[in-house]
Amino acid sequence: MLKVDGLRRCWIALLSVNIIFPFLVSPVRAGHMEGIPPGEQRVSPPISLKKVAPDLYFLYDDASSNAAFLVTEEGVLVVDTRQHPRHGQDLIERIRKITDKPIRWAVVTHFHGDHYLGSPAFKEAGAMIVSHRDTAAMIKKYHEQEVARRQAFFKTNNLDPKKVKLVLPDATFEQGQMTINLGGRVVQLLYMGPGQNPGDTFVHFPQARTLFTGGPFSRKSWPNTAFTPSMDGWIAVLKKLAAMDMDHYLPGHGDVGNKQDLLDEAKVLGDLQSGVKAAMAKGMSREEMVKSLYFREYKELRNYDRLHGFIESTYQILTTGKSAFGLP
Ligand SMILES: [Zn+2]
Repeated sequence: MLKVDGLRRCWIALLSVNIIFPFLVSPVRAGHMEGIPPGEQRVSPPISLKKVAPDLYFLYDDASSNAAFLVTEEGVLVVDTRQHPRHGQDLIERIRKITDKPIRWAVVTHFHGDHYLGSPAFKEAGAMIVSHRDTAAMIKKYHEQEVARRQAFFKTNNLDPKKVKLVLPDATFEQGQMTINLGGRVVQLLYMGPGQNPGDTFVHFPQARTLFTGGPFSRKSWPNTAFTPSMDGWIAVLKKLAAMDMDHYLPGHGDVGNKQDLLDEAKVLGDLQSGVKAAMAKGMSREEMVKSLYFREYKELRNYDRLHGFIESTYQILTTGKSAFGLP
């Protein structure tokens, strides 16, 4: 069982980042934390497993990333494999407390390491790993980079980096939809074009009126804008998801959400974009924006301490048409 002390983890991570890359924690960056005294900073709740429908479970891991699984008579389908093979194994152990049916499928929603580096555990368990074609291509291309940027997390959480291995999806889909039939249940993998990332996949459980949203939607969290090829495209995807009118939206980060949470995130993205555009119209440089834009109405959201990066990547998209991550 993984025990998490979110605040301690946060500070240790900050300290280790500061020792290895002192330039990453500049006074400007600390500035975005000024509105939140240390005693009031957000602390992650412990990991919890939530039953959102009689056969559908949501693993809410606030300090790392979320996952979900569907239990049927024929086997289990998992959505996202978590951040490390040990996290993947932990999820398998949780599944085993509920069913002994084989784990048939593991869907990977996007290429960020915190959502797929647990894949070796599911490969070993015999699952068919599936993703959108673009997600598979991005995993292949950026795997080493994804592993490199998670070393501090592994260290803080005593996760052996040597256990991390590249496991590519066994199957991919290219069009807008792939349907999986398992034990009398239908699961739809949906692709609506890039949201937060190329390849973003949504997993629809029609019987549970539930949608797992992966990267593009994180509840009560600043969306990470480093990867998107289009802020407007992302906002449009969030509005389409909200229009699906599900009972539950299961985010990649944050607790179970609803339609309004998706629209709230669309508003944050819209406000971030228009704030940066207005600053550009005043002739401000990127450095000046980072120092002067605070978006304090959203300071309670998770990841507010990373706002400087989101301002920078939004500026990058608006001025070059390309994501800060260097995507095509
Ligand atoms: Zn993530």
